[in-house]
Amino acid sequence: MRETFLPFAPPMIGEEEIEEVIDTLRSGWLTTGPKTRQFAADFTAYTQAPGALTVNSCTAALHLSLVSLGIGAGDEVITTPLTFAASVNVIEHVGARPVLADVEPDTLNIDPQKIEQAITPATKAIIAVHYAGHPVQLDAIRDIAERHNLHLIEDAAHAIGAAYKNQPIGSGSNPTCFSFYATKNLTTGEGGMLTGDDEFLDRARMLSLHGMSREAWSRYSAGGKWAYDIAAPGFKYNMTDIQAAIGLQQLRRFEAMQSRRREIVAQYQSAFANDPALQTPVCHEDVTHAWHLYVLRINESELTIERNQLIEAINARNIGTSVHFIPIHMHSYYANRYSWKPEDFPVAFGNFNRMVSLPLSAKMSDQDVADVIEAVTDVVAVSRRRAMVA
Ligand SMILES: *Cc1c(COP(=O)(O)O)cnc(C)c1O
Repeated sequence: MRETFLPFAPPMIGEEEIEEVIDTLRSGWLTTGPKTRQFAADFTAYTQAPGALTVNSCTAALHLSLVSLGIGAGDEVITTPLTFAASVNVIEHVGARPVLADVEPDTLNIDPQKIEQAITPATKAIIAVHYAGHPVQLDAIRDIAERHNLHLIEDAAHAIGAAYKNQPIGSGSNPTCFSFYATKNLTTGEGGMLTGDDEFLDRARMLSLHGMSREAWSRYSAGGKWAYDIAAPGFKYNMTDIQAAIGLQQLRRFEAMQSRRREIVAQYQSAFANDPALQTPVCHEDVTHAWHLYVLRINESELTIERNQLIEAINARNIGTSVHFIPIHMHSYYANRYSWKPEDFPVAFGNFNRMVSLPLSAKMSDQDVADVIEAVTDVVAVSRRRAMVA
């Protein structure tokens, strides 16, 4: 057993990030400035996005998307029950009603058929989450959005580096929201990026900084350097150059980090794939998986322990784990407000009870990976249900 605790998702920060932050601090320009602009440009190039707006979180990007599209009271927004609360909280923030559509059993992504069934005359948008970094069925979901005249917002918090049919996530013209939170594949500590077409981004940019518009004033004033107009009651969602400094260097090492993630995933897959007590994650042939998470599921009928005991046993072997996610409809606020029962979304609920996320980070050594495999294999071996002997 390992001597020290293996954290679930440690960030990979090198000297380059540290030097770039120091350079920013010495430059005298701390908040949104040249490094933020450069980071947005580099990110746009990497994702082949039509354009990108730096923000201080993915939650901010999601909120800005809804506000910029004019979604509010009386509107319904369809999303997945198997996501982080932020994807759904923002729907509440704009006064709209979240409508959940259950997930597919294999990818655990929102099921296009369930989206179609959830549409009403009040539906205005779909927030599709690329769960664990595996893209949703974009063709099917785009088709539904087009036929019903709905906006499609992608929650790509897990999906930087992912692609659908060779098109990078973020390369579409619809709003796509990325997270650079400390545990994500690319981090700036806290931070986010919103990609989309120019017209949408112009409105989102204005709303991201108090609703301030400089263009509106420059039309009437000669110099116009000090002048601004508040065109809407906006938010304070801008990214700082200190954050962007980290992001610039993270983006430079991003492909190397992703390739290390894929190596780790390959080792997990070959260790667990043939065990009848375990279900390993899938990757469809038409996607590039970003492998933000490695979500292992247990087949309860093969084991004498349940998921919670499995987690305790793995943690007792000094391995950090997590669960993604406690389904939205099981949180007290949402359960109470919409009278949702756990069984209302049976695929999300059933799979939640079987899942554990194993450590996955570019920072992990081969020994770390071997330790995780050993811990899981050991716990499963001592908990395997034996066939009854007559
Ligand atoms: C992390 C996460 C978010 C929120 O990202 P922040 O940058 O922390 O706001 C949103 N959606 C999903 C699916 C996430 O995992």
